[in-house]
Amino acid sequence: MTDHNVTTTNSGAPVASDDHSHSVGADGPVVLHDHYLVEKLAQFNRERVPERVVHAKGGGAFGTFVTTGDVSAYTRASLFQPGAKVDMLARFSTVAGEQGSPDTWRDPRGFALKFYTEEGNYDLVGNNTPVFFIRDGIKFPDFIHSQKRLPGTNLRDHDMQWDFWTLSPESAHQVTWLMGDRGLPASWRHMDGFGSHTYQWINAAGAKFWVKYHFKTNQGIEILSQAAADQIAGEDADFHIRDLSEAIARGEFPTWTLSVQVMPYADAASYRFNPFDLTKVWPHADYPLIEVGTMTLDRNPENYFAQIEQATFAPSNFVPGIAASPDKMLLARIFSYADAHRYRVGTNHAQLPVNAPLHSNSYSKDGAMRFGFRDASAPVYAPNSFGGPHASPAAHGDDSGWESDGELVRSAATLHPEDDDFGQAGTLVREVLDDAARERLANNIAGHVSKVTIPELRVRVLEYWANVDADLSARVASLLTPLAHVAPLPA
Ligand code: NDP
Repeated sequence: MTDHNVTTTNSGAPVASDDHSHSVGADGPVVLHDHYLVEKLAQFNRERVPERVVHAKGGGAFGTFVTTGDVSAYTRASLFQPGAKVDMLARFSTVAGEQGSPDTWRDPRGFALKFYTEEGNYDLVGNNTPVFFIRDGIKFPDFIHSQKRLPGTNLRDHDMQWDFWTLSPESAHQVTWLMGDRGLPASWRHMDGFGSHTYQWINAAGAKFWVKYHFKTNQGIEILSQAAADQIAGEDADFHIRDLSEAIARGEFPTWTLSVQVMPYADAASYRFNPFDLTKVWPHADYPLIEVGTMTLDRNPENYFAQIEQATFAPSNFVPGIAASPDKMLLARIFSYADAHRYRVGTNHAQLPVNAPLHSNSYSKDGAMRFGFRDASAPVYAPNSFGGPHASPAAHGDDSGWESDGELVRSAATLHPEDDDFGQAGTLVREVLDDAARERLANNIAGHVSKVTIPELRVRVLEYWANVDADLSARVASLLTPLAHVAPLPA
């Protein structure tokens, strides 16, 4: 009887030794035709796919989303109909650090969700912040370069981070958010998630709405102090991965309540801010939260690489009833995420079990690592006369869209060109934070800016904060470590 516990080669043949390679005599040269040794070493060299350029360090879990509210007046998406329940995957991450970097560095956190629905996979690739640093995707590579590493030393650099931020004043809202308490979540379970962009919802009658997603943690917001985060970064770089995995293993399944803000389609033209500007929120007083349902994470991945590292989330994965908006960052991401996955996981990434939709009728074929195929008699092109799948505007709900003046330009959006970059950041500082939170914010900024080494840049940084809030800027100035007095590193 075949012993199924024998090591085999990749092609399934029994292996003679786990310990010794083939050599010419016990002390002689190793031979090239020891194909098992060669296979083992060659396979090992290929164990990694390129890490994500951003959001490289992360973890995740599977779960379910249940729609408890009734938003059918706004969207016909099947997953958001009353009582709907779908399986899902969540991946949380830091943004700037590489794989292996500490989970507790100050950074926004990725909040990427994949819903496996009967009408295709719906991906909502958000963050734990309602806004972002820039509003046009053309700046994204520059922004990330400034947050990553210097080309010569390969060190991260506060001068280039603050240089970019202060030369890009639209970053002020997100930088204020980041330097505040919520820039250091205690765990992924204890933070909110946001779709951040404005999306379009379309109901069964074809009426369109603009929508923003808010996932409120039911564990409550918990944060780390800068000192605690710094200490944990040294002691346990995987603190957040461990927390989520262990909580789920204990049966403590984290949940979030999804609510949406819904703006009637026609309001966009007259709303007091550009509602498609990713650096701005819609104040709750203007568009209150409407409850949709609950996301519960209750299943750890069985294999990190197969199910999390190779999980591919793309804002282009819409389902009927949900579509894009004129948010320029969203439009850029709709190209770049799917493209990143084709590069780093492969053109057939959507075939991997973690990424595969419940049903697929795609005409895609061939390409590296293709293993799925349709019946040999099925036509490979459309249109065809042989009963192959055909596109359906009705099934797709091809009624998404918006007006544009049609001119091809390079310019900021025309909705509210008078919008300023600092107003909502100032509201956060003055109207949301209390005195203690404002003091922590000033300390966090001062700690960060004290590592800026160029005097003129420090002046520009203080001007940037004065535009957000004059008192905050003055407080930061009073807390800055003078350039001449930067403490030397311990010997
Ligand atoms: P509201 O008073 O209705 O809500 C304030 C929001 O700020 C709440 O979502 C609250 O979250 C959140 N918040 C509290 N503390 C912090 C913090 N340290 N860092 C970041 N967010 C925090 O205000 P408005 O809707 O009128 O918005 C006012 C300002 O609040 C905005 O300019 C924006 O900076 C910030 N904000 C607004 C959000 C929105 O979608 N409208 C979302 C998040 C922040 P919680 O309820 O969990 O305490």
